[in-house]
Amino acid sequence: MLDEAVDRAATRTVSSHRLPPPPSALRGRIVVAAVAVGAFAAAGAGQTLHALGSSSSGDEVTPLANSAPDGAAAFGVGGTAPSAPQIVPVAKTVDAQAEAQKLTKSQKITADREAADAEAKRPKYARPANAEFTSGYGGRWGEMHYGIDLAGPIGTPIYSAADGVVIEAGPASGFGLWVRVQHADGTITVYGHVNDYSVQQGQRVKAGEQIARMGNRGFSTGPHLHFEVWNPGGKKINPLTWLNENGVSV
Ligand SMILES: [Zn+2]
Repeated sequence: MLDEAVDRAATRTVSSHRLPPPPSALRGRIVVAAVAVGAFAAAGAGQTLHALGSSSSGDEVTPLANSAPDGAAAFGVGGTAPSAPQIVPVAKTVDAQAEAQKLTKSQKITADREAADAEAKRPKYARPANAEFTSGYGGRWGEMHYGIDLAGPIGTPIYSAADGVVIEAGPASGFGLWVRVQHADGTITVYGHVNDYSVQQGQRVKAGEQIARMGNRGFSTGPHLHFEVWNPGGKKINPLTWLNENGVSV
């Protein structure tokens, strides 16, 4: 009674393991199967026997023995079943990343296109101040006036008339404080009598970007912007003509 229980427990213990020593009957079948494989499978016999030894069913012997490489491979993959579910999420993660990258790329292309469109549509010239035109270029009171005057309250925003680089921002004789911006073709625009400025030498600015505020510094008879245009040769030309030629009315 006790011995039988121990035997049964031992049997259960053995049968619950995946690598039991083959019972004599199964061992006999393994030998038969190994013989059936033939001499050409002798090199793989050890592997085959190992796989067979891991099996608890003799029915699996023949197919495994007849196709040792495929069977072993299938057995190896199938035997590590926990890795199979892991492959799917990994694959999905890769796909998700690829999709996200595609989406990001698509969004970037769209953003780049929109930026290019906006850049293309952006005005390349701007009125230097939304203020009243009070004086033009030319002879005035027996003197030459080399710019135009736009009058408004102190603090009125002053904008760069075109894309360019600030080549000077600071005090200037007669102008009080001025800002000078050089443009791609060498033209320089001058903004005089400013109350203060918000750019510095070397800074890139765009057309319409605020660079200063209107003031009454220097030789000025009231708050206004004195605006000059120096052509690439350094000649002070009529700013009104230059603005009009570039699509800006004052
Ligand atoms: Zn002036």
